[in-house]
Amino acid sequence: MRDVWNTAALAAKDKEYLWHPFTPMREWCAKDHSPLVLVRGEGAMLEDSEGHRYLDGNSSIWTNIHGHAHPKINRAIRDQLERVAHVSFLGATNPSAIELAERLVGFFPKGTLQRVFLSDDGSTAVEAAMKMAIQFWQMKGYPARSRFITFDNAYHGDTLGAASLGGINAFQRRVAGHEFPVTRVSGLDELDSISGFNHGDVAAVVIEPLIQGAAGMRTWPAGMLRDLRKKCDSAGIFLILDEVMTGFGRTGAMFACQREEVIPDFLCLAKGLTGGYVPLAATLTTERVFEAFLGNVEDGRTFYYGHSYSGNPVGCAAALASLDIFQDENVLENLAPKIARLSELLEDLRSEPGIYETRQCGYIAGIEVRRRNGEAFPWMRRVGAQICLEARRHGLLTRPVLDTIVFMPPLCATLEQVETGIAAIRAACRDVLVGAET
Ligand SMILES: *Cc1c(COP(=O)(O)O)cnc(C)c1O
Repeated sequence: MRDVWNTAALAAKDKEYLWHPFTPMREWCAKDHSPLVLVRGEGAMLEDSEGHRYLDGNSSIWTNIHGHAHPKINRAIRDQLERVAHVSFLGATNPSAIELAERLVGFFPKGTLQRVFLSDDGSTAVEAAMKMAIQFWQMKGYPARSRFITFDNAYHGDTLGAASLGGINAFQRRVAGHEFPVTRVSGLDELDSISGFNHGDVAAVVIEPLIQGAAGMRTWPAGMLRDLRKKCDSAGIFLILDEVMTGFGRTGAMFACQREEVIPDFLCLAKGLTGGYVPLAATLTTERVFEAFLGNVEDGRTFYYGHSYSGNPVGCAAALASLDIFQDENVLENLAPKIARLSELLEDLRSEPGIYETRQCGYIAGIEVRRRNGEAFPWMRRVGAQICLEARRHGLLTRPVLDTIVFMPPLCATLEQVETGIAAIRAACRDVLVGAET
């Protein structure tokens, strides 16, 4: 049985009352725009209000891990709701949060990442790490160590601290003048030439390990992360890893940092933490950092940071269920052949006219289109967006980053679903690129 939705009425009210993120709202509200109304999900598939089904080709903006409406996560959430939906994490604790912290710490060697600070979103996970790093250096007697090093085209979220770290010009322009001190570099070799890098005024280097997401799925060279860890160690500064996108199996390992055997000083997790069901984030850090915050109350070492929904039990219960599924369903083992198949399909795609480059890291792919002569299309043409719109008619939902089409289905997506997803991108590219050449 299918629910019946009045799509036109829903669209009209959406346009009257809502404001969507990262969305040019005049276009959205225009008469001829029909917003996609998603009403249901099952596994890697989503269904709209008219009954069309699509492969969730970007995991609902990089969040979904085991598919939609997974019975185990749904049950864990329902069970938690029957007990209590939310209790304060200020002055109290709850069993789901306690168990989750223990499970997260268990992924890392003993004596490394041992403390878990819970918040709500990727941005807040990064924001908390930044504030911890700054306060740590103040309390250690280095108040000048407050600058962050980040990379060109980085994206770390939209709260003001996290946004300061970002390196994408279009996003950055509007916060210019309100940013924290940040130095941006294009790669590792620039680090040594930064004055103050070695025991100067730098608090931490922040990076999306292995692959930059919002930059258009750009991969770092193998070994880069390991070299970065060494450089941070010899300069005596922190390494903050933003695994908000790469965490929870996306790269083929549970965490991207494990692929280069790197342990950061801060690890930021969010999007896939709850399997992509409800908002929850975690900032993991070391006992060395944590201990600096201990003291008598009057010493002022307390970390004065938190949110109303910190430690939310529903989120923690969903996260625990998601971690259980990784074990029960051998998710990472089953992923390996699918990653290999995705590589083959991307290789095939490269012979297609207009496909300029394909990039892959585990189960994450970016497919960049350009003119046949290798020049980028003018961004105003929004060729990538047109391709994604066209892909919808072929049963695939995704979003581009400029002219890079993102393909990163939930980890549960089958070989066949990956094949139909890539076929949809191929068909959509053929449809759109011919006209775009002229
Ligand atoms: C999405 C993302 C963020 C921000 O997370 P939100 O939950 O949207 O605040 C931060 N860093 C990376 C790498 C991301 O992909």
